[in-house]
Amino acid sequence: MQKFKDIGLKLTPQRLAILDFLDGNTDHPSAEEIYRAVSVQFPTMSFATVYNTLDSLREKGHIIELTIDPAKKRFDPCTDMHHHLICTLCKRIQDVHIPFSLDLPEQVKGDFTLTGNHIEFYGICPACRSGHQS
Ligand code: ZN
Ligand code: MN
Repeated sequence: MQKFKDIGLKLTPQRLAILDFLDGNTDHPSAEEIYRAVSVQFPTMSFATVYNTLDSLREKGHIIELTIDPAKKRFDPCTDMHHHLICTLCKRIQDVHIPFSLDLPEQVKGDFTLTGNHIEFYGICPACRSGHQS
């Protein structure tokens, strides 16, 4: 929570509830999912509040916007470099916190200084494999 303090927006109770929901969340929720979860506590909260809070958090580098799921943007409060394992059926996204030693050949890299990488692993999650997709 402390790391989210400087979000460049007034910290209303609604916004604090959004931050609280995101803090330590490893489900990679979409804006709609965040809205649904926080609406339980704040039924009058608008979707715009969720949207502009996420936008501000992203701008400040507190969350990462994932474009893994073509259907909807997903958000990740874990900003440490990590990779993702994605279920191609239910689009569940699981963190992969294993460092991979990757480099690019000089002729590809050119004048670029590499600062990171992001690997997407694809598969079928246990729930989908057993036919119990929620
Ligand atoms: Zn699945
Ligand atoms: Mn992640």
